[in-house]
Amino acid sequence: MPSKAIGMGMCPRCGRPGTVVIKAGNYVYIKHGNTWHYIGTIDKVNLNKILIKKREERRSY
Ligand SMILES: [Zn+2]
Repeated sequence: MPSKAIGMGMCPRCGRPGTVVIKAGNYVYIKHGNTWHYIGTIDKVNLNKILIKKREERRSY
């Protein structure tokens, strides 16, 4: 399954920053080094609230 890093975000689980990763186009995770925190499905997660800065790749939100 492809995973895509979309930028840096603040993790709602532990309150620390990490890399926001979308897996399989639907599942939002935040990666802190080797630790992954699952946040939720993309339709339930407010990415604009989590993201600190966004990469200008695609504007789909
Ligand atoms: Zn976390």
